[in-house]
Amino acid sequence: MSANDYGIAHQLAPELGVDTWHDAAGQPLAAYGLADMPGRYKLIFCFQDNCPGCHRSGFPTLIKLFEAFRRSPTINFAAVQTVFEEFEHNTAERGFANQQRYALPIPFGHDAGPDGTGSALMKRYRSGGTPWFILIDPNGVVLFNHYHVDADRLIDYLRDAEAKGAAPVPAGVLNWAGVLRLARDGNPEPPRRLELGDTEWRARLTPEQFHVTRRKGTEPAHSSAMCALFEPGRYACACCGTELFDAGSKFDSRSGWPSFTQALSPDVVAYHADASHGMQRIETTCNICDAHLGHVFPDGPAPSGLRYCINALALSKC
Ligand SMILES: [Zn+2]
Repeated sequence: MSANDYGIAHQLAPELGVDTWHDAAGQPLAAYGLADMPGRYKLIFCFQDNCPGCHRSGFPTLIKLFEAFRRSPTINFAAVQTVFEEFEHNTAERGFANQQRYALPIPFGHDAGPDGTGSALMKRYRSGGTPWFILIDPNGVVLFNHYHVDADRLIDYLRDAEAKGAAPVPAGVLNWAGVLRLARDGNPEPPRRLELGDTEWRARLTPEQFHVTRRKGTEPAHSSAMCALFEPGRYACACCGTELFDAGSKFDSRSGWPSFTQALSPDVVAYHADASHGMQRIETTCNICDAHLGHVFPDGPAPSGLRYCINALALSKC
């Protein structure tokens, strides 16, 4: 596996799944989880007691970050011993001893997995080992996860976020966390449904449209004049005619595919986790006829921060 195969950046942060905790004062805690961390950002530091890198660079980095935000409500910290090797050494006792050793008044967890065969947090967060830093943003999305963090850059980033204060997404605007929740928990009820067989779709569509919309195909980048079209109007599903996007939300992403920041209404586009082609992506489909439209990414413009990357063959301008 390469470094890119680790971590779950841009995905919803799962619950930590750690059963054994000490509170900030070193006393046993019955339970602890993300809901107990009210800061806008959460930083989880994963370590093992016998891991030299954890002591050489991991803990010093954590201490630097903690000292910078010691009295700030911006960020909460927790450290978890995520055991995946040398179980006889990396015991709860030795893990917890680091709380005193480094004088860190933050909750410490010990996680050798429910059956003692390996950290549950590590599996949930696909961590690459130890040390491992996980930064979760105010929407509950994993912003960053890696062996190393540039403490100075992260401090600057969080101070900047602190200065700007909470910038809530306007009501009715779907953001990335909302997309991830729909993909995980289920999509809105469609306003209506159209279900046809392949024969009927083939009769209605060109072969290229059929391939993209009914077989999850992707048209070549820069293959459509629709990328450069910025006239007012609406973009409808090429299969069922449902209006999906307004031209006002179209922007020039330079990706080679028509790009939008928002769907026309919350119930016309559906979202699905798509692990094809070795990537973790969110597929978008027409919620009325299930036509494959394209994907949505978290790198679009404000206020939604979304980039709907849509095949022109799946759309018709109206
Ligand atoms: Zn449709």
